[in-house]
Amino acid sequence: MAFKTDIEIAREAKKKPIQEIGAKLGISSDDLLPYGHDKAKVSQSFINSVQDRKDGKLILVTAINPTPAGEGKTTTTVGLGDGLNRIGKNACVCIREASLGPNFGMKGGAAGGGYAQVVPMEEMNLHFTGDFHAITSAHNLLSAMIDNHIYWGNALEIDTRRVVWRRVVDMNDRALRTITASLGGVSNGFPREAGFDITVASEVMAILCLAKNLEDLQERLGSMIVAHRRDRSPVYCRDIKADGAMTVLLKDAMQPNIVQTLENNPAFVHGGPFANIAHGCNSVIATTTALKLADYVVTEAGFGADLGAEKFLNIKCRKAGLTPSVVVVVATVRAMKMNGGVAKADLGDENVAAVEKGCANLGRHVENVKSFGVPVVVAINHFVTDTDAEVQAIKDFVAAQGAEAVLSRHWELGSEGSAELATRVAEIADADMANFAPIYPDDMPLFQKIEAIAKRIYRADDVLADQKIRNQLKDWEAQGYGHLPVCMAKTQYSFTTDPDRRGAPVGFSVPVREVRLSAGAGFVVVICGEIMTMPGLPRVPSAENIKLNADGDVEGLF
Ligand code: ADP
Ligand code: MG
Repeated sequence: MAFKTDIEIAREAKKKPIQEIGAKLGISSDDLLPYGHDKAKVSQSFINSVQDRKDGKLILVTAINPTPAGEGKTTTTVGLGDGLNRIGKNACVCIREASLGPNFGMKGGAAGGGYAQVVPMEEMNLHFTGDFHAITSAHNLLSAMIDNHIYWGNALEIDTRRVVWRRVVDMNDRALRTITASLGGVSNGFPREAGFDITVASEVMAILCLAKNLEDLQERLGSMIVAHRRDRSPVYCRDIKADGAMTVLLKDAMQPNIVQTLENNPAFVHGGPFANIAHGCNSVIATTTALKLADYVVTEAGFGADLGAEKFLNIKCRKAGLTPSVVVVVATVRAMKMNGGVAKADLGDENVAAVEKGCANLGRHVENVKSFGVPVVVAINHFVTDTDAEVQAIKDFVAAQGAEAVLSRHWELGSEGSAELATRVAEIADADMANFAPIYPDDMPLFQKIEAIAKRIYRADDVLADQKIRNQLKDWEAQGYGHLPVCMAKTQYSFTTDPDRRGAPVGFSVPVREVRLSAGAGFVVVICGEIMTMPGLPRVPSAENIKLNADGDVEGLF
């Protein structure tokens, strides 16, 4: 049986006008700022007006360590949201916006898949409502103002070798990773080495996603460190006096976007920070607004639960005062097999033993999430090639762990396939069983916070770090940054820092290569391994096959 591609399904969607979708959440058309017929921003004044309301239940969707086989977190988030609406609940989903550049490389879409998608998916993956363009502009305004400050005499005494604020563009362009700026003579300034990151890696993106309101946004932008002086003292964005103008550029982008699922249920799509050097989930303002408008809010955290859920719970929930009612851990038969040692080419053959072996990875994630005091449901995201025996093996394993796994077929069937999952998730959320707490307190020293995550979540024996790194952390504590959470940047493929060690490894250390202070976003980034902040394109980029057909539709995108 042939299945339609994601884009074919998306194109057949029977979309409703965005005003009808807003009405489902009680947003009147005056409070919607439409971008065309099927996208809108929710006005800041409306958001302000609902702050006294009671919050709905927050449901986090996370997953096992990803494998090239694909887990379907977004697909499951959207499918679960539709499932909850199908069983008569007032639910909405909150997911991230997509980075434009990677669509032209090899990445799949960010709007879900099969019959569990958010539409209009092409737009959501491309320019959408212009939020990322606004972030790019705000970021680069600061870059331009820094070099301009140096050009006009450098009153702040910035050491031009120690400018840490780079430039950004929303494109995979490895040629820009390291550049020489200000070439061409006296009127172009002082030549210095510089470089570009992709827009989603900008600290401005992380800030937009954590800021509670425009005031908080400006305050955080002002606190970003942009350079250092010869004596190593920091120069802040507010010293350059860029924070006000940057906030002006970001004013519209701060308002969350709503669109719809294939089943015409509301979906917030807002913000998209990197999941390694940032926290990897949609904006706080979208989540907190959704909680005021819906009884159930389903949201997703990037990567596997060791990174995505850990940061969602330790960073986003802590900072925004959110408390999840239940966490859904997505697992697939295919990924269990890969974690159990099967090669990608052999995934088509039934292999119950490999599923059982791979379940160790799932089991550790389930235990970890429970250690935050939140109940867990495992969603088995069904692929049509999965056999009953393989599915049963996962269910049995999870039951033996004292948790529950529910098979969900939203990709194939939409909400009809996810109704059972939705019923269980709603029951658990309604039972108010969660007793959530982050796994480390604010006042724990920074290095101990890293150790807490490495030992309790990854199950490492220890954390290895040079004296230089430990001293850096101590300096930041002395400067008043010791209360910040840590943002781990590690491979998503393994509990360890080695992407090839699947399953549930023991007997390893976590080496820390570098630490960076994101003073505006409000976390210390801990880099364990190679982190790429400007991706490149593959030998044959998907852009070569993307085109408009005779009807004006986009082809080749997904
Ligand atoms: P994640 O959010 O975990 O990165 P996505 O939900 O974006 O994953 O899904 C990645 C890709 O896998 C999408 O193209 C989607 O269509 C596909 N996919 C997800 N679930 C299934 C499934 N059950 N069967 C087939 N393909 C699926
Ligand atoms: Mg996703």
